[in-house]
Amino acid sequence: MERMFSVLKFGGSSVASATNMSRVLDLVEKEASGRRVILVASAISGCTNALLSGDPAQVDEMEKRHRSIVKRLFTGGEQLAVQQRTDALFRELREAPEEEKVTYGEILSTTLLDAKLKAEGYRTCWLDSRELVVRDDEQKTFANIAAAVSAAPEVEVFVAPGFICRSAEGRVCTLGRGGSDYSAALYAAAVQAASLQIWTDVPGIMTTNPRQVSRARTIPRMSYDAALQMAGHGAKVLYAPTVAPAMQAGIAIEILNTFAPEGGKTVISADVRETGPVGLASQEKGSVSEICLVHSSELTRAEEALTQAGIAPLRLWEEEGNLLLTVRPAVEKMALQALHRAFFEVLPVKEVCLFIAGYGAVGKALAQMVDRTGPTVEERTGKVLRLVGVANSRQYSIDLGGHPGAPCREGDYVAEVCARAPKGSVFVDCTNSETLYQRYPELFAAGLNVVSSNRRSFAVPYATYALLHAAARENGAFFRYETTVGAALPILESISRGTNSCDEVLSIEAVVSCTLNQILGDYRPGGESFASLVRKAQEAGLTEPDPRQDLGGRDALRKLLILAREAGVRLEEEEVEVTPVIPKELFDVPMERFYEDLEAAEPLFAAAGREADVQGFRRRFVASLEKTPSGGFRAGIGIRNVPPVHPAYHLRGTENAIIVRSAFHPYPLVIQGPGEGAREAASSILNDILR
Ligand code: ASP
Ligand code: MG
Repeated sequence: MERMFSVLKFGGSSVASATNMSRVLDLVEKEASGRRVILVASAISGCTNALLSGDPAQVDEMEKRHRSIVKRLFTGGEQLAVQQRTDALFRELREAPEEEKVTYGEILSTTLLDAKLKAEGYRTCWLDSRELVVRDDEQKTFANIAAAVSAAPEVEVFVAPGFICRSAEGRVCTLGRGGSDYSAALYAAAVQAASLQIWTDVPGIMTTNPRQVSRARTIPRMSYDAALQMAGHGAKVLYAPTVAPAMQAGIAIEILNTFAPEGGKTVISADVRETGPVGLASQEKGSVSEICLVHSSELTRAEEALTQAGIAPLRLWEEEGNLLLTVRPAVEKMALQALHRAFFEVLPVKEVCLFIAGYGAVGKALAQMVDRTGPTVEERTGKVLRLVGVANSRQYSIDLGGHPGAPCREGDYVAEVCARAPKGSVFVDCTNSETLYQRYPELFAAGLNVVSSNRRSFAVPYATYALLHAAARENGAFFRYETTVGAALPILESISRGTNSCDEVLSIEAVVSCTLNQILGDYRPGGESFASLVRKAQEAGLTEPDPRQDLGGRDALRKLLILAREAGVRLEEEEVEVTPVIPKELFDVPMERFYEDLEAAEPLFAAAGREADVQGFRRRFVASLEKTPSGGFRAGIGIRNVPPVHPAYHLRGTENAIIVRSAFHPYPLVIQGPGEGAREAASSILNDILR
């Protein structure tokens, strides 16, 4: 087998409608661009139950649903052909022996998927699981599948019904309720697949059933055994027999959410060894509910949690490395909530591990500060910060013992952090990277919090920004970036406090460009030229490598986006009217020419400066957001002349000021103070970590 295989299995809700099927096909097509695919599918949701009911009316209803999918998925001649095929299958189904009727659900769903892929030009082959999969005989099953696949070397996507099979005697039968997962594992093991993906409607295996406990979280990585225990004790997301064939073939099982492919997922593989409790599963056992706390023996702690919630378990015992208990069904949900709280929520973190990315001035200042402030921080907050990982753009170093030294290893730092970080760790982004933020969701899913001083991550569309926050929320993580505006000044926190309490922002004026505050503050018409002040600022490291980034308002724009969004305004970059400080033509010339041309533009600056002087104003570079009478917002960036009563009038050096007017208060909130410096940034990051 020259090209490697991926096996993708989709459950009933993933194929429940034409829209969902299209989603499935997108995912399959993406995978098929690099691998050969075996697509295994369940019946559309509700179908298996309908067919098992023996009620002809329910079969009619299913026929309607399939017809409407065909109508929406296909057009023209194709639609006709697929409809005829579906009609024929329903005729067959109605005449089939009672015990075989249930097998048509998967035949129908996969027939539609196969036809659609063919219509889109893929070379496909529908595999008849009733021939290939032999119940209770995995060796025979593997041989059958391998033979069928090698007989069709040209095929890009094989499509196979899950759930259905035949018995050793040749009778058509099934693998049991939920059995499609197991079908997929059999197909994967038979072809030594490189990837086995179980696509469902929840973000992987969660710490408990999210329908019962809303704070359930995705478990990013698990051992085969833990997955087996969760599934075996009632977690519905995975059918327990699925684990063994995958484990024996050494294939990792990924559990993903069809409806949020980039969101949380679980990877079950051989290189995970859990050291603490993994999750809670529950199932009905006769007249009682049995709850299993997988991979835990902390009997006393469980007992305490239940007592606190006023629940007395009927029985509580240890078995094969798990903790088991039975309760009356009426209190199952409460018991799950109590145990989840005790074992999986906000453990009183004493020790917080820090992983720093970006080991420049700020990263190093932070490392030093963590070291120096240790005893004070512990005394004041009860937290011990431990620096365990550092990385620059090329190398990293991790030592959970707290002595990472300097970055020295090559490799994927984020992946390594995700794999090794203890729950509740904090990842600190003090890089200048424009792409690192794309990996925050991975970090959140792995149980890390993120603190960032990297404002480039926020010059993204609102939707992307919202997704990052959603990923943090879903995983119970925090995501803070106070440092990105005004360094150590508590600006974002103040704004978001107002937003939380529904105090509506009417306007924000932000004088937050350290570079321009310095330059405009020093500038006197007739004195040292504007060009010369810019050059000095550049030499002092106060500007971006190309100072035009600052003069053009790029940096202020990023800060304004952050401020606005913190105030609950969905501002987009395009909506901000930016008036650059220098004439437009100067943006396109080479650096040396730039300074010459800027010098030549001196009369412009001098005239504007003189005019301000005459009126008693000072010139400040202001980023502003203002509510309009129509209820919208107007955002702009540019130089403004401010009168002596304006808080920004008195700014010195690189100081920043921010003025927020809101509906609750007659007078604005004004925050003013030092707006830059590695030490300030480090202090701000530290406080984001501790808050
Ligand atoms: N359709 C079958 C069931 O509902 C098999 C599956 O979905 O895994 O049990
Ligand atoms: Mg299912």
